[in-house]
Amino acid sequence: MGVDPSTAGGVYDSVLDAIGHTPLIRVNRLATGSAHVYLKLEDRNPGGGSKDRAAREMVLAAERSGDLRPGSTIVEGTSGNTGIGLALIGAVRDYRVVAVVPDKTSVEKIDLLRAYGAEVVITPGGRPVGHPEHVRTIAARLAAEIPGGWLAGQYDNPANPAAHHKTTGPEVWAQTGGAVTHFVAGIGTGGTVSGAGRFLHEVSGGAVRVVGADPVNSTYSGGDGRAFYVESVGHYRHPDTIDDELPASYHPEVLDEIVTISDREAIDTLRDLARLEGILVGGSGGVAAAAALRVAQRATAPAVVVALIPDSGRNYLSKYHQPEWRARWGFGADGIRTDRGSADD
Ligand code: PMP
Repeated sequence: MGVDPSTAGGVYDSVLDAIGHTPLIRVNRLATGSAHVYLKLEDRNPGGGSKDRAAREMVLAAERSGDLRPGSTIVEGTSGNTGIGLALIGAVRDYRVVAVVPDKTSVEKIDLLRAYGAEVVITPGGRPVGHPEHVRTIAARLAAEIPGGWLAGQYDNPANPAAHHKTTGPEVWAQTGGAVTHFVAGIGTGGTVSGAGRFLHEVSGGAVRVVGADPVNSTYSGGDGRAFYVESVGHYRHPDTIDDELPASYHPEVLDEIVTISDREAIDTLRDLARLEGILVGGSGGVAAAAALRVAQRATAPAVVVALIPDSGRNYLSKYHQPEWRARWGFGADGIRTDRGSADD
């Protein structure tokens, strides 16, 4: 006789059911002012990031619509957490998974995809969206060529924001007992902020402010698209870009505001979170946490600010968390910041 998951806390029938239910951790020493700041730590998902949620919903929706059937192959162009989410879900539900990644992808990530049984196709990096050699173009071509191939397509698959509308938003509302006043998230495909933000608007009658956190230069907040250091959020405009449409997974009308964060502020914040709060976040987490601290700092009424942290700093130990890397790129190797400054300082 097994354990009844409905009566036992933290017991799940499969790894798919263990997706979500991530904790909120309060920021104690870095937050200034009277507002409460909480980080929603998505690295507690089985694949290590928020993308498990989108991957599960995309697969289940495609099974419902009949696009995915026994024997189908899941294909996605991704260098990051979506591929890992799809790989673990493919393992559980018996699909072949093909992840198309650019050649700059770290060995650790490629090995992780392979550990879950995914096949990895490595392609030349640095191509603009729409280029015949861009990862997403190659993934679309492979999905069309492989018999039973199905392209997950996180940038325009409605199941991506739907996953966050179904799970992330309701969790934030329930965990705060409806006290959340601001929800802050970075914008990659836009699925997280659009889906969770829409839910929080609906449930609060528009009272929750939905805040996008965007790297400076990113086109989402009106930047010119010049490069920035943090990965997985913001939109960089490749010099050869012709067509620069917003992803369909991003619903800008949901956002009440976008806060821009410099690379320096994001990297200072992630260093301080590790050293003062014991919370290890990555670059996109640094952007979201920095934006949340800024929102909290200027709040005039009692505020409960929740920032979504997409994955763990463990994925970036050789970058932002390494003093040598920080010094090499001019971010300052050491010294803990005590002031919070502005993005422009
Ligand atoms: N940070 C990391 C590490 C991610 O993997 C992602 C998802 N690509 C994001 C941020 C952005 O989330 P979304 O695509 O839902 O906007």
